[in-house]
Amino acid sequence: METLKKSIEECDSVKELERLRVEVFGKKGYFAKEFAKLKELSGDEKIAYAARLNEEKDKFSELVNAKKSFLETKEYEDILKQDAVDVSLYSNIVNVGALHPVIDTMDKIIEYFVSLNFSVEDGPLVEDDFHNFEALNLPKFHPARDMQDTFYFKDGALLRTHTSPVQVRTMLSQDPPIRMICPGAVFRPDLDLTHTPMFHQIEGLVVDKRGAVSFANLKSILEEFLRYMFGSVKVRFRPSFFPFTEPSAEVDIGCIFCHGAGCRVCKNTGWLEVLGCGTVDQNVFNAVGYKNSSGYAFGLGIERFAMLLHKIPDLRSLFEGDLRLLEQFK
Ligand SMILES: [Zn+2]
Repeated sequence: METLKKSIEECDSVKELERLRVEVFGKKGYFAKEFAKLKELSGDEKIAYAARLNEEKDKFSELVNAKKSFLETKEYEDILKQDAVDVSLYSNIVNVGALHPVIDTMDKIIEYFVSLNFSVEDGPLVEDDFHNFEALNLPKFHPARDMQDTFYFKDGALLRTHTSPVQVRTMLSQDPPIRMICPGAVFRPDLDLTHTPMFHQIEGLVVDKRGAVSFANLKSILEEFLRYMFGSVKVRFRPSFFPFTEPSAEVDIGCIFCHGAGCRVCKNTGWLEVLGCGTVDQNVFNAVGYKNSSGYAFGLGIERFAMLLHKIPDLRSLFEGDLRLLEQFK
């Protein structure tokens, strides 16, 4: 029995212990041989011997089980140790993501206007006719509604075609003065080189007492903004039409690719159209119940700015999720 005890102590794997157990308890093992000796004994001697053997057998089982559970725990811990990862270990493999160029451009624009004390407002993507059209001087059957084809839901709700409804919602919930921008996604059923069904706009709105805000303010703020985005570029305002502003203008910058000489991007005009703006139409103020107010508004497409800043030729490539494109913006 002492030899057996020693053998158990010396086992250093579950496998080895199992072999020993079979050796001792098996048909040709130690206990089989010892129990066989009972045949030669009789009476009290036989009973005493059998009792001693059973006691030994129990004790041995107990020792084997204890050793087994010890070895199993140890082997499990060894596996854990082998698979362990040292998170504090320095690695020179640095794999950092990057902001999407659209978001990056949006952040840059937001940062500029926030520095001029504009608040950043948000609104729902699913809008109703009143906030998206009616309140913006686009009554039903107004020809300007054709300018923006619309995704409609069955119940008449729609995906907003511009961020202007956020301006309406802000004016309905606040009194002037207002100084806000609203960045976000907008939707129109278009798909080609320069249009995607979802794109991003930022619009700005400033409203104050009548006479306190003028087109001159608008002009100076936009000129400064465009120079912040594109460096020292020429800026020009062209008369235009938007239903929600009167007068309205489109804003061009001198082509940043050919510097006015004419190229494919500017279609040989030397100018790139980047913004729409104007002083707020009185009908818009009437729709939100503002009296004796004046204001200006402007809007731009963020993808257009991102494409110009990063010289991206196809708008659709911004939304294909191709990592090879995105990795260039790290
Ligand atoms: Zn050009």
